[in-house]
Amino acid sequence: MAKVFCIANQKGGVGKTTTCVNLAAGLARIGQRVLLVDLDPQGNATMGSGLDKRKLELNVYDVLLENASVAEARARSEVGGYDVLGANRDLAGAEVELVNLERNRQRLKAALAQVAGDYDLVLIDCPPSLSLLTLNGLCSAHGVLVPMQCEYYALEGLTDLVNTIKQVHGNLNADLQVIGLLRVMFDPRITLQQQVAEQLKAHFGDKVFDTVIPRNVRLAEAPSYGQPGVVFDPGSKGAQAYVDCAREMVKRVQAL
Ligand code: ADP
Ligand code: MG
Repeated sequence: MAKVFCIANQKGGVGKTTTCVNLAAGLARIGQRVLLVDLDPQGNATMGSGLDKRKLELNVYDVLLENASVAEARARSEVGGYDVLGANRDLAGAEVELVNLERNRQRLKAALAQVAGDYDLVLIDCPPSLSLLTLNGLCSAHGVLVPMQCEYYALEGLTDLVNTIKQVHGNLNADLQVIGLLRVMFDPRITLQQQVAEQLKAHFGDKVFDTVIPRNVRLAEAPSYGQPGVVFDPGSKGAQAYVDCAREMVKRVQAL
């Protein structure tokens, strides 16, 4: 049965989508059956998986409005080796449409339950907000993976996210826990980043992934080729780090 994880952080540009796409590809590469769910109307995870968001016949919007099942709406990322429940601008409307509907935070969970036997892991790329879309992600998930840049303000945003996770845990989804903090876009030449990286480890202990994702231009270039970095340049430091991260993820999931 699939274990479901949200990649979440309400800050934008912190590496959520890059992590989601490359972790999906890394997990596929080590033999895991993966579904990536794109919950961001920008559709970057969809595009980065090699699927054209403008040409999706069905997408996660249709699933949230219960016009389609996941089995009908998913597509295959041939290049990544995993399935994708894609997103595009349609999804921006879902937020408004869902407000007055019943069970509006549990819809993704119900939909994913129907395909739980098809996957080992489901990764959900969340938008940079604590919206109804993100709540659908958090209600579906066993855990949250938080990508973080090792910057001075990194911890500030974390407090809000941790509070939201606590609320969801208390009221909507007792399974939910933070599976880990992942240090991303790391540049070891910057002393401050080293310091914050160590502070995170000291403060959060085991919750911090041992794997550190370096800043690596190949990871940033890959989306313009419609490929995960792990596939685009498997020998690059960034790609190797995400494959290591995938191995660590599997170990952590087994220990849950
Ligand atoms: P988010 O989904 O949180 O908004 P993205 O994954 O889109 O963040 O990343 C923001 C920007 O940083 C993108 O341009 C992406 O290519 C770049 N980026 C992400 N991770 C790395 C990395 N490890 N090295 C270099 N660039 C990165
Ligand atoms: Mg994103």
